[in-house]
Amino acid sequence: NLISNATKFTLKGEVSLLVTVGDNEITVAVSDTGLGIPIKDQATIFDEFHQSTRTATRGYGGMGLGLAITRRLVEMHGGKINCISSGEEGDGTTFYFTLPVYRGESAKESDEMDNASKEDQLLLLSPNLAQAQPLSEYLEQQGYSVHLLDVGAHTQNLEQALLAPYRAIVICDDPSATWIQDALSVLRSQPGKQDVPILFYHLWVEENQGSFLDLNLVSKPMRPDSLLNVLKQRGLTESDPGRPNRTVLVVDDEAEIRELHAQMIEQHVPNCQVIQACNGRQGLERMKDVRPDLILLDLLMPEMDGFGMLEAMQSHTTLRAVPVIIMTSQVLSEDTLLRLNRCVTSVLSKGLFSIQETVQQIESSLARDKRPGSEPQRIARRTMAYIHTHYAEAISRSDIANHIGANERYLTHCFRQEVGITPMEYLNRYRVKVARKMLETEQKSITEIGLEVGFTSSAHFSRVFHQYMGTSPREYQRTN
Ligand code: ADP
Repeated sequence: NLISNATKFTLKGEVSLLVTVGDNEITVAVSDTGLGIPIKDQATIFDEFHQSTRTATRGYGGMGLGLAITRRLVEMHGGKINCISSGEEGDGTTFYFTLPVYRGESAKESDEMDNASKEDQLLLLSPNLAQAQPLSEYLEQQGYSVHLLDVGAHTQNLEQALLAPYRAIVICDDPSATWIQDALSVLRSQPGKQDVPILFYHLWVEENQGSFLDLNLVSKPMRPDSLLNVLKQRGLTESDPGRPNRTVLVVDDEAEIRELHAQMIEQHVPNCQVIQACNGRQGLERMKDVRPDLILLDLLMPEMDGFGMLEAMQSHTTLRAVPVIIMTSQVLSEDTLLRLNRCVTSVLSKGLFSIQETVQQIESSLARDKRPGSEPQRIARRTMAYIHTHYAEAISRSDIANHIGANERYLTHCFRQEVGITPMEYLNRYRVKVARKMLETEQKSITEIGLEVGFTSSAHFSRVFHQYMGTSPREYQRTN
């Protein structure tokens, strides 16, 4: 508005813009060599519907709102606005405003500002650039700015790269790769970086398959290496004399499991106190005295189960943010998925999706359109759970829809939106995945296996298997 006014009221000469950055404020000045503003008008020029007598008598139009709005905006940002003019006609005018500078007074504040400006910046880490390239290109097409770092060649740059603010970090490798543990502990030890989302993404290019992991679910009992991974991810394994004791709460009704996990943690985490509870109620009780840095939580327990504890934690401001790793020994049932739905947003799937689909899952996870508890997500999860338990039967789309209580087309719509493929396609892939395992490990005939995983005939089984695997079940059995 200032520039537009300056050019409007300046017939000859020039208009200039000057920005000066001081210690505490920035000053922006717009100067012109135009009409100038009579001294008596200078006090009212910023008021709404005011015009200077000089421009009014010359037939310049306008509502007299621009400067009032400009002043409001500047003041809302904590700045001031004013003008300087000798008042002589033709002497010109300078309008200037100041804005306060916020400078690293609080690291968090400036971090947040950085993060906001780099909202769509992603760090993509991969030991194999060729493999990560398609994902990088895809994400760039989606409007993200991607920093792709070859961790194989530039491990020394990794630490530096992790210091920069990123919206999310996508790791293109197996989560158990050793470099990842180092990267994660560097990252998690940075103040303010504990919450940067980290997504794992892994491709098997030969098989045109990918996996995507964004869920804190592990199987129980945890293997020492996966527990160690989790502890490292949380930055719990480094000894840091400046840090007070850490606390991990293990909640499980089986004493042996508790003991096993407690021992493993004590072995790997310096200065760590492990507290144990045998059910959710006791877990909550223990947390009254000390807020743990991490909770390993079993789901099925008497008195108050893991869900009950999670729910209670959700309504508690200080406990809500404690990281929880859910340990489960069972295949997740529909009920389990539904209940977890409220607490976790992520999807775990391995070997069932093509590269393109995996990439899309990453993208939508980044775009955060998978809100926890949304109806499409709920429907998709129930459908998945239904397929996981009923795949061996001759199920149709209408069976699933009936079970879920949704219209068939709506079901497909929701599932597609969340998972990227139709429920029936998912069913076929799931069957093929189970069949592969059986072909690899069991001495059964092709027909038997086909029927056992839910295909109605061996011909149908072979056709679908070929479609996904590019080879017949017989050939697959022979070569694996
Ligand atoms: P509008 O909303 O009508 O464009 P503004 O609120 O921006 O009006 O400006 C109000 C009045 O202030 C203008 O009508 C003009 O009289 C005076 N004014 C603003 N900028 C200048 C300038 N650079 N030189 C001379 N007069 C100016």
